[in-house]
Amino acid sequence: MYIDLRSVEDYHSFADKGIANCQPKAAAKATRGGDKSVAERKQARGTCAYCGAIVAISGVTKHMAACPERQAAIENAHPGKGGPETLYHLRARDATQGQYWLDLEMPGSGTLRHLDDYLRAIWLECCGHLSEFSIGAWRGDRIPMSKKIGQVFLPGVQLTHIYDFGTSSETLIKVIETREGRATTKRPVALMARNVMPEARCRECERPASWLCMECLIEEDEWGVFCDEHAETHPHEDYGEPVRLVNSPRLGMCGYDGPAEPPY
Ligand SMILES: [Zn+2]
Ligand SMILES: [Zn+2]
Ligand SMILES: [Zn+2]
Ligand SMILES: [Zn+2]
Repeated sequence: MYIDLRSVEDYHSFADKGIANCQPKAAAKATRGGDKSVAERKQARGTCAYCGAIVAISGVTKHMAACPERQAAIENAHPGKGGPETLYHLRARDATQGQYWLDLEMPGSGTLRHLDDYLRAIWLECCGHLSEFSIGAWRGDRIPMSKKIGQVFLPGVQLTHIYDFGTSSETLIKVIETREGRATTKRPVALMARNVMPEARCRECERPASWLCMECLIEEDEWGVFCDEHAETHPHEDYGEPVRLVNSPRLGMCGYDGPAEPPY
């Protein structure tokens, strides 16, 4: 069966109908982060990188227009070489459950390589695997990393980014809006907002969990997360110490162990 998944929403609607075969390889793993309903996930919340406010994903655009810290960053942007240009507010979202997302601003002159570097740094990098961008679903038309943001992110276009063709991490990226002006940073990417780290509860005691057991995941296909105390007493040790939970969709895949912090 082949289903063309153009968006996270499509994915959810297929998933809701119980059509499991459409999941990319990496998604066939144990359910990550519990069994929250789709409705709850759609109310996903994130943190504004400028002022620290918690905002619903659906309200990010509105917040950015009103956020005093964001507006100050725009006003203080140093005139660089040349004039103002088009800046792209992009949203990158994991294709598996959509609970991990990043809102990024990039100039039209930035390249996909810059975006790839950023995604690797904040979310994905474990052992230097290959990655690529394509248009459409899983391994659609490949787009060279040298392409400029302004060349590829036309209205309505969604790109798929794949990191690692073995244990794959798949990210969907689309344009939320554009503005004319100057970048707020000399770096090629500015972090605008990201999801609040999904809550995890210890399998033993329901207290907040901060550790993931790789043996539970690999051998039993269970998302075994534990509090400090129960991570200590958990009997599994064939895959080493539990991995610290971090805010990344790569968690639990290959040798990934974070830190899932913004590189800048
Ligand atoms: Zn803000
Ligand atoms: Zn790896
Ligand atoms: Zn516990
Ligand atoms: Zn375990």
